[in-house]
Amino acid sequence: MTISLDRPVHHSTAASVSYRTLAPRQQDLFHRALKAAADATNVWHIKDIHEFTAAALGIDIPRNDELVECSCEGCPDNCDAIAPLSLCAEYLDGSVQRPQCPACADDHRITSD
Ligand SMILES: [Zn+2]
Ligand SMILES: [Zn+2]
Repeated sequence: MTISLDRPVHHSTAASVSYRTLAPRQQDLFHRALKAAADATNVWHIKDIHEFTAAALGIDIPRNDELVECSCEGCPDNCDAIAPLSLCAEYLDGSVQRPQCPACADDHRITSD
């Protein structure tokens, strides 16, 4: 269930946003923020970066949470939602833990064995 708009409308915060609906500047900001968070050595800096990024993208994120991109496999919607990790389901892809956004987890949850 993806609603496509010609341009993103961010009048209020949302639980998640679709990456492809973001403006190029916001997509760039998201990548740079994730890289900054990956390079940060202080956990509180990492949390701050995620909180600032969520605010910039109009995502309502719980405190001390992190933003992740949905990596739902074989997704019928080709989902690219960015959502708070605490709201996502996680599944194992080999030995790697991958997040599945709340909408995907509701609709077609991946269970790992
Ligand atoms: Zn999905
Ligand atoms: Zn998803």
